[in-house]
Amino acid sequence: MTRTLTNWAGNITYTAEELHRPPSLDALAALVARSAKVRVLGSGHSFNAIADPGGDGVLVSLTALPPTVDVDTAARTVRVAGGVRYAELARRVHQQGFALANMASLPHISVAGSVATGTHGSGVTNGSLASVVREVELITADGSAELIRRGDRRFDGAVTSLGALGVVTGLTLDLEPDFEVSQHVFTELPLAGLDFEAVAASAYSVSLFTDWGRPGFRQLWLKRRTDQPMPDVPWAAPATEAMHPVPGMPARNCTRQFGVPGPWHERLPHFRAEFTPSSGAELQSEYLLPRADALAALHAVDAIRATVAPVLQVCEVRTVAADSQWLSPAHGRDTVALHFTWVEDTEAVLPVVRRVEAALAPFDPRPHWGKVFTMPPVVLRGRYPRLAAFRALADELDPKGTFRNAFVRDVLDVQAEEVLSRQ
Ligand SMILES: Cc1cc2nc3c(=O)[nH]c(=O)nc-3n(C[C@H](O)[C@H](O)[C@H](O)COP(=O)(O)OP(=O)(O)OC[C@H]3O[C@@H](n4cnc5c(N)ncnc54)[C@H](O)[C@@H]3O)c2cc1C
Repeated sequence: MTRTLTNWAGNITYTAEELHRPPSLDALAALVARSAKVRVLGSGHSFNAIADPGGDGVLVSLTALPPTVDVDTAARTVRVAGGVRYAELARRVHQQGFALANMASLPHISVAGSVATGTHGSGVTNGSLASVVREVELITADGSAELIRRGDRRFDGAVTSLGALGVVTGLTLDLEPDFEVSQHVFTELPLAGLDFEAVAASAYSVSLFTDWGRPGFRQLWLKRRTDQPMPDVPWAAPATEAMHPVPGMPARNCTRQFGVPGPWHERLPHFRAEFTPSSGAELQSEYLLPRADALAALHAVDAIRATVAPVLQVCEVRTVAADSQWLSPAHGRDTVALHFTWVEDTEAVLPVVRRVEAALAPFDPRPHWGKVFTMPPVVLRGRYPRLAAFRALADELDPKGTFRNAFVRDVLDVQAEEVLSRQ
């Protein structure tokens, strides 16, 4: 390794000996074909070792490949290369008069890395970002190209795939006609008497924020499509100044508020592409569980808020519509996502993560694949009813386990010895 390479948060140092940036698809295919262990690094925004191939493995970045963004106006789709980030994709899609259905809280993340981990925004009718993917182009372990389309028997395993099937060199996404969004922030939403369903469904994308210093939510963010009516918001008072969800951070880092209409990609993310997102010094965890249990789960966290608050910067509550992808944390259930932005102190945070997991256990939470969690693999596996189908797909496309790092082996329940014995 020529220099130490860490993830965005700095809590993970990748142990691979080298970071390769192949300049062409042919060079990428040749590199994969001659390597025993490979993982792709997207924009490095995950908070765990999901992208780390291990010390004997090859870490690949696609940033030297052409950053293709091809909009097909007739088909209303966009084909995006494997290394492109949402900020660039969204700008190009908007320029051509189209929109993505949703975005995460930040546009800084790569598209391929985001859909690989089930990254999501909010909205009771909005699926995760992976739900608009219609085609996945892969380079598999022997260096050959594979195209998996929606409708293919393998498709539901191919998008939120943890990088375990091959290198994603291109994705084709559904587009919609361009739309505008106005963003409205409210303050002090009580937990007592909260009608979660009504609040969550009151706009296209809704987020509730709290620091759990006291019961209830400090901020409520509504992102309303301007082609939909402005809802009544009897539950909280309109903010009188622009706000950042993380206490103490500058509101200028955030997308425009006070209901000023703007293009979808400048309102759906909370954070502006040209500034540091979130607090910049943090760890994150997130648990996705049935939306019907939202209120009970919020009360369960409220019951341990004295433990949670001292290491928390902010907690965000969002919703995600159910989907059919085998490893999607929203698989088969309309979902509420309880997100925690912790202080940047792993030692102090991990015991609290365990407490949160224990408090949420009755609701069968699935952790975000790209964030910090302590749930044992055996518990995690039990939360994914189509895990066996995914394992079979991984065996089919990657029989020697080239793309299986320690993280994936835990998920699949494949021991390192077993993989080695097959080589
Ligand atoms: C400040 C901040 C805010 C966040 N906000 C949200 C949010 O609003 N909603 C949410 O759901 N998550 C959020 N996240 C989490 C983030 O979206 C995920 O960690 C996501 O995976 C990041 O994408 P990445 O490209 O950085 O992935 P990486 O961490 O680089 O990689 C993630 C996985 O994808 C694989 N991968 C990446 N590219 C490829 C490829 N081309 N081919 C095959 N495999 C590939 C990697 O091997 C790895 O397994 C946030 C993270 C941060 C730091």
